[in-house]
Amino acid sequence: MSEELELRLKERDIRPTAVRLLVLKEILTIQEHQAFSLMDLETRLDTIDKSTIYRTLMLFHENLLIHSIDDGTGSIKYSICKRGCDCSVMASHVHFSCTNCNKTYCLENIAIPKVTLPGGFEYESANFVFKGLCPDCSRG
Ligand SMILES: [Zn+2]
Ligand SMILES: [Zn+2]
Repeated sequence: MSEELELRLKERDIRPTAVRLLVLKEILTIQEHQAFSLMDLETRLDTIDKSTIYRTLMLFHENLLIHSIDDGTGSIKYSICKRGCDCSVMASHVHFSCTNCNKTYCLENIAIPKVTLPGGFEYESANFVFKGLCPDCSRG
Protein backbone atom coordinates (compact mmCIF):
# COMPACT_ATOMS: atom_id res chain seq x y z
CA MET A 1 0.00 0.00 0.00
CA SER A 2 2.68 2.53 0.93
CA GLU A 3 4.67 1.69 -2.22
CA GLU A 4 1.56 2.42 -4.22
CA LEU A 5 1.21 5.76 -2.44
CA GLU A 6 4.85 6.63 -3.06
CA LEU A 7 4.39 5.87 -6.71
CA ARG A 8 1.41 8.16 -6.97
CA LEU A 9 3.48 11.02 -5.55
CA LYS A 10 6.50 10.27 -7.72
CA GLU A 11 4.32 10.16 -10.83
CA ARG A 12 3.52 13.80 -10.12
CA ASP A 13 7.10 14.77 -9.29
CA ILE A 14 6.34 15.06 -5.60
CA ARG A 15 9.04 13.83 -3.26
CA PRO A 16 7.40 11.34 -0.91
CA THR A 17 7.79 12.44 2.69
CA ALA A 18 6.07 10.88 5.70
CA VAL A 19 3.57 13.68 6.02
CA ARG A 20 2.75 13.82 2.30
CA LEU A 21 2.12 10.08 2.30
CA LEU A 22 -0.12 10.46 5.31
CA VAL A 23 -2.15 13.24 3.66
CA LEU A 24 -2.48 11.28 0.42
CA LYS A 25 -3.53 8.18 2.32
CA GLU A 26 -6.27 10.14 4.05
CA ILE A 27 -7.45 11.68 0.78
CA LEU A 28 -7.76 8.21 -0.71
CA THR A 29 -9.98 7.05 2.14
CA ILE A 30 -12.52 9.74 1.31
CA GLN A 31 -15.41 8.18 -0.52
CA GLU A 32 -14.78 7.90 -4.22
CA HIS A 33 -16.03 10.74 -6.40
CA GLN A 34 -16.52 12.93 -3.37
CA ALA A 35 -14.70 16.22 -2.95
CA PHE A 36 -13.32 17.59 0.32
CA SER A 37 -12.38 20.99 1.65
CA LEU A 38 -9.24 22.04 3.48
CA MET A 39 -11.32 22.05 6.65
CA ASP A 40 -12.50 18.47 6.09
CA LEU A 41 -8.90 17.40 5.81
CA GLU A 42 -7.86 19.35 8.90
CA THR A 43 -10.59 17.59 10.86
CA ARG A 44 -9.54 14.18 9.62
CA LEU A 45 -5.84 14.82 10.23
CA ASP A 46 -6.05 16.62 13.54
CA THR A 47 -2.61 15.40 14.62
CA ILE A 48 -0.91 17.27 11.78
CA ASP A 49 -0.14 20.95 11.93
CA LYS A 50 -2.69 22.95 9.93
CA SER A 51 -0.15 24.95 7.95
CA THR A 52 1.57 21.71 6.94
CA ILE A 53 -1.72 20.32 5.67
CA TYR A 54 -2.32 23.53 3.74
CA ARG A 55 1.14 23.53 2.16
CA THR A 56 0.83 19.85 1.26
CA LEU A 57 -2.55 20.43 -0.35
CA MET A 58 -1.22 23.36 -2.37
CA LEU A 59 1.72 21.26 -3.55
CA PHE A 60 -0.61 18.42 -4.54
CA HIS A 61 -2.74 20.91 -6.43
CA GLU A 62 0.19 22.53 -8.22
CA ASN A 63 1.48 19.14 -9.32
CA LEU A 64 -1.94 18.00 -10.55
CA LEU A 65 -2.39 15.22 -8.05
CA ILE A 66 -5.67 16.84 -7.04
CA HIS A 67 -7.96 19.34 -8.75
CA SER A 68 -9.93 22.16 -7.21
CA ILE A 69 -13.64 22.81 -7.55
CA ASP A 70 -15.37 26.08 -6.91
CA ASP A 71 -18.86 24.83 -6.11
CA GLY A 72 -20.14 28.27 -5.19
CA THR A 73 -20.43 27.46 -1.47
CA GLY A 74 -17.54 29.77 -0.65
CA SER A 75 -15.11 27.04 0.31
CA ILE A 76 -12.94 25.54 -2.40
CA LYS A 77 -13.22 21.77 -2.66
CA TYR A 78 -10.56 19.36 -3.85
CA SER A 79 -10.63 15.91 -5.30
CA ILE A 80 -8.02 13.40 -6.39
CA CYS A 81 -7.20 13.39 -10.09
CA LYS A 82 -7.32 10.30 -12.19
CA ARG A 83 -3.88 8.91 -12.92
CA GLY A 84 -2.46 10.55 -16.00
CA CYS A 85 -4.98 13.39 -15.94
CA ASP A 86 -3.49 16.63 -17.24
CA CYS A 87 -6.20 18.82 -15.72
CA SER A 88 -6.77 20.66 -18.99
CA VAL A 89 -10.20 22.11 -19.56
CA MET A 90 -10.95 19.43 -22.11
CA ALA A 91 -9.91 16.71 -19.69
CA SER A 92 -12.04 18.00 -16.87
CA HIS A 93 -15.43 16.80 -15.87
CA VAL A 94 -18.70 18.02 -14.50
CA HIS A 95 -19.25 18.39 -10.74
CA PHE A 96 -22.40 18.16 -8.70
CA SER A 97 -23.05 20.04 -5.50
CA CYS A 98 -25.87 18.82 -3.25
CA THR A 99 -27.93 21.65 -1.81
CA ASN A 100 -29.11 19.46 1.05
CA CYS A 101 -25.99 17.74 2.46
CA ASN A 102 -23.51 20.17 0.87
CA LYS A 103 -21.39 17.35 -0.51
CA THR A 104 -19.69 17.90 -3.83
CA TYR A 105 -19.16 15.05 -6.25
CA CYS A 106 -16.94 14.47 -9.27
CA LEU A 107 -18.98 13.15 -12.17
CA GLU A 108 -15.85 11.84 -13.83
CA ASN A 109 -17.59 10.20 -16.73
CA ILE A 110 -19.26 13.39 -17.87
CA ALA A 111 -16.92 15.70 -19.77
CA ILE A 112 -17.48 19.43 -19.82
CA PRO A 113 -19.47 20.26 -22.96
CA LYS A 114 -17.39 21.67 -25.74
CA VAL A 115 -17.91 25.40 -26.00
CA THR A 116 -16.62 27.65 -28.74
CA LEU A 117 -15.96 31.14 -27.47
CA PRO A 118 -16.23 34.23 -29.65
CA GLY A 119 -13.04 35.46 -31.30
CA GLY A 120 -10.57 37.10 -28.96
CA PHE A 121 -11.58 35.13 -25.86
CA GLU A 122 -9.07 32.61 -24.58
CA TYR A 123 -10.13 30.42 -21.69
CA GLU A 124 -7.86 29.17 -18.98
CA SER A 125 -10.28 27.16 -16.93
CA ALA A 126 -13.92 26.22 -16.76
CA ASN A 127 -16.16 25.43 -13.86
CA PHE A 128 -19.19 23.32 -14.52
CA VAL A 129 -21.21 22.63 -11.39
CA PHE A 130 -24.73 21.27 -11.24
CA LYS A 131 -26.75 21.90 -8.11
CA GLY A 132 -29.52 19.78 -6.72
CA LEU A 133 -30.02 16.65 -4.65
CA CYS A 134 -27.51 13.82 -4.57
CA PRO A 135 -28.70 10.16 -4.59
CA ASP A 136 -28.56 10.00 -0.76
CA CYS A 137 -30.75 13.06 -0.39
CA SER A 138 -33.20 12.53 -3.23
CA ARG A 139 -34.24 9.12 -1.92
CA GLY A 140 -37.68 8.75 -0.39
ZN1 LIG B 1 -26.91 15.17 -0.56
ZN1 LIG C 1 -13.63 16.43 -10.05
